[in-house]
Amino acid sequence: MQKNKKLKQTKYIFVTGGVLSGVGKGITAASMGAILKAKGYHVTMQKCDPYLNVDAGLLNPVEHGECFVTADGVETDLDLGHYERFLDFETSKYSITLSGSIFKELIDKERSGGFNGKTVQLVPHFTNLVQEKIERASADSDIHIVEIGGTIGDYEGLSFVEAIRLFANKVGRRNCLYISVVYVPWINTSKEFKTKPAQNALKDLRGFGIIPDIVCTRTERPAPKEIQEKIAAFAGIDKDAVVNLPDIKSVYDVPFNVLKSGVLNILNDFVGDDTRPDMSRWEKFSKLRNKEFKKTVKIGLVAKYVGNNDTYMCVTEALKASAAWNEVNLDLVWKNAEEVTEKDLEGLDGIVVPGGFGVRGVEGKILAAKYALEHNVPYLGLCLGLQVACIASARLGGVKNANSEEFGASAKAKNNVIYIMEGQKGKESTGGTMRLGDYPAKLVKGSKTAEIYGSAKVVERHRHRYEVNQKFLPEIEKGGLKVSGTSPDGTLVEFVEAPGKKFFEATQAHPEFKSRPLHPHPLFLEFVKACK
Ligand code: GLN
Repeated sequence: MQKNKKLKQTKYIFVTGGVLSGVGKGITAASMGAILKAKGYHVTMQKCDPYLNVDAGLLNPVEHGECFVTADGVETDLDLGHYERFLDFETSKYSITLSGSIFKELIDKERSGGFNGKTVQLVPHFTNLVQEKIERASADSDIHIVEIGGTIGDYEGLSFVEAIRLFANKVGRRNCLYISVVYVPWINTSKEFKTKPAQNALKDLRGFGIIPDIVCTRTERPAPKEIQEKIAAFAGIDKDAVVNLPDIKSVYDVPFNVLKSGVLNILNDFVGDDTRPDMSRWEKFSKLRNKEFKKTVKIGLVAKYVGNNDTYMCVTEALKASAAWNEVNLDLVWKNAEEVTEKDLEGLDGIVVPGGFGVRGVEGKILAAKYALEHNVPYLGLCLGLQVACIASARLGGVKNANSEEFGASAKAKNNVIYIMEGQKGKESTGGTMRLGDYPAKLVKGSKTAEIYGSAKVVERHRHRYEVNQKFLPEIEKGGLKVSGTSPDGTLVEFVEAPGKKFFEATQAHPEFKSRPLHPHPLFLEFVKACK
């Protein structure tokens, strides 16, 4: 895809973190990206993470948060979701670079004789391959931002730091901007900020040959100018290049904080134009998000990992943004799928059943779908949320004990309304083998689904192994649901809806992956609208 590039030479921004991880390096980097994008540049992002997994597909979602899926079908962690939300672009397999995948590629090449007997080493082989990945990920960008996971000095991250240092030799130092995000703690007993850990982190970074162009101090509360000046003096950096980014309520307001900090001058110098970004849509969204509306919608999320926002990040972000643009407050109530009863569902304005795997809590999700059907409560089913809706509907339509092959029902059982997809058998515990990424679907003319999308052809991202057994469509329809979209060849059910109900839409896909704060996904927007 050829984008309208403004710059002849792609420019690179490298973001590292000091002192602690988890201080918002990714959000800071994405916010700078959002500002540059609002200046008219095509901006992309990439995460380099030093862990040894090959992808994030097999990582525990409780420990590691939601598994995000790229359009080209790679299972990644939730950082890429932030990048897509802030920059409104589509990440790809090149947007995530894990040590595990680099090692795998090198070792596979070595085993097949690809190095002609040479010694294979971290430098230059690992570092070269990382640089190649960065070049590929940035192929059509004006500005490409690379976030290095972890903290400076981490043993396992050193080869990535060396790779981004070397990158400046390749493309020219003036085409690279290094940003270091350091944590500056507030010590409550002595009522002061302590800059020593940040100084040490910057010293470490210097030791690896990188002097940052911008240092962002992350603090719990606003830090006085002197703190930034002190860090600048000790680190030998211009004092205007050290800026404070204190905690704020909403991550979507971070771009405004970045703009207040004076970083814009440095970014402008870097790209060579002094225009101000057009942040009008961000401003509108920020106003709506921070406003108290008269109306509140109470939406129940029936899920297994209750209260764990990270595990359902894209879903909750899509709901929050849709509430803001619908001008209602969102009261998101978590319902534990393992315990939920009909009584718990009373009084909800809407029900969401998100994606999920395994038998645990599944009867609660089926109950939620059945409740929504019988009580005409707006329902949005995402992936597993479609499967449980079909099971509930088939049960209502007469298939006693309708179930899914995934939930322990044997393949021979006669009631598997949901069964394993062609070609997926035996792959249940292996990584990267599901039906992953973008797939097109055709929507049924005249269906509510088609009306919501405003088109008969759609493309959504997927991550599943099981599908609707169309043999049961008569019973599913008898229970109240109707197929409203299929794969182009008609073999896979992609969307179902309940005609005549206020709002009952379910999809085998994950539309939440394509929802953006500034442009929420139509299914979410319309769902929240129906709830109000
Ligand atoms: N477990 C179901 C499947 O594999 C649903 C997957 C999901 O919700 N992402 O088909």
